Amino acid sequence: MQPKVYFAEQHDIRDSSIDKDALFVLSRLREEGFIAYLVGGGVRDLLMGKEPKDFDISTSARPEQVKRLFRNCILIGRRFRLAHVRFGKQIIEVSTFRSGETEESNLILRDNVWGSPEQDVLRRDFTINGLFYDPSDHKIIDYVGGFKDLTLHLLRTIGTPSARFRQDPVRMIRCLKFRARFGFQIDQEILSALSECRDEILKSSPARLLEEMLRMLESGASEPFFHLLQEFGFLDLLFPALAIAMRREVGSTIFAYLRAADNYVLATKEAPPLDRAVLVSSLLFPLLQDKLEEHIAETGKEATSTAIHELAWQIEEEALSNSFLEFPRKLRAFIGFILESQLRLNPQSGPVVRRARVASHPDFHLALQFLSLRSLVDPSVTEVYNTYKELPKRPSRRRLPKEE
Ligand code: ATP
Ligand code: MG
Repeated sequence: MQPKVYFAEQHDIRDSSIDKDALFVLSRLREEGFIAYLVGGGVRDLLMGKEPKDFDISTSARPEQVKRLFRNCILIGRRFRLAHVRFGKQIIEVSTFRSGETEESNLILRDNVWGSPEQDVLRRDFTINGLFYDPSDHKIIDYVGGFKDLTLHLLRTIGTPSARFRQDPVRMIRCLKFRARFGFQIDQEILSALSECRDEILKSSPARLLEEMLRMLESGASEPFFHLLQEFGFLDLLFPALAIAMRREVGSTIFAYLRAADNYVLATKEAPPLDRAVLVSSLLFPLLQDKLEEHIAETGKEATSTAIHELAWQIEEEALSNSFLEFPRKLRAFIGFILESQLRLNPQSGPVVRRARVASHPDFHLALQFLSLRSLVDPSVTEVYNTYKELPKRPSRRRLPKEE
């Protein structure tokens, strides 16, 4: 099939918006006679006038050939072999054109059959993610109608929605992610496929789902995303404790936290992002507060710090162990610590004891970051937050590694 080609005067992508390392990798591949394009989310974001998070490259060079061209390159992945070219902290992902599943193929497990550029886009998920960009001549190469869909704000799958969702159920979550992030329309066929294939989500990889979920918490569009997860019934399957909570009154506080996290992300693009443990804690902290209020209503007394400790870890355990998402142990430990430390920093009543012991904990910076998020939801916490913020900073000894 002949692709539609859009020339420089038909789009707004400028070389200055493209990462120079990505441009270097592209030109090096081309010098060696390979075809090489920018592809996927990077091209989509450039066309939407947004700053791309990552720049992915698709090429006719095989992974070993890419490796030979760049000293700073490693090959990763068994199911999906990729080259990572590293420049300092930044990684440019280079994948070889491959032919994907046909509409008839079932759940895909292997993905290493090389193919043509056209085959390579046909295996991708949505038309807006299926565009190539060639910076050498400023051309957009469009086999799937993604350019028009971007201008029309349409989210369309490449191929039949139900077939593509069955092949890789994570695509359903990605569908809601793009709807939440861009507000694009989805048509009736996708809506029907989402409800028809919903249960298939439990066949997908919990680690991949967790990564999509965490990325959405960091995206600035987590509130609409969780509304969509709830509306389409995915939350009940993936995170039942949260789904139940969100239907109760406390649900509105959870959404208020998500909104605060979104506002924080959008307002502080250059600042260090909120830690993933802080973001997950914002889903669970309202549950702890709820339980503590119940405790006061029942006993007429505040919970002791031992009781708070137990409740915090019980909520963490109930919510995260029953979830289909696979939360790594270390992340869970940070979340438990954040939850239990909050009531020490800001007791339900009585004076705040500055320099509470928790302030010397090696993960205190996480508790403090959560307190800053809390102060956006509940301004009465601001004063306490400011008090702790001024304590001299201890270097943090532990950091949560980001999954790639
Ligand atoms: P983000 O902005 O969150 O990074 P993205 O679309 O770039 O969004 P990535 O996970 O970085 O998402 O994937 C890069 C590209 O790989 C996508 O744009 C899409 O073309 C393709 N892709 C990713 N996940 C899938 C999938 N599950 N099925 C088919 N193609 C996919
Ligand atoms: Mg991406």
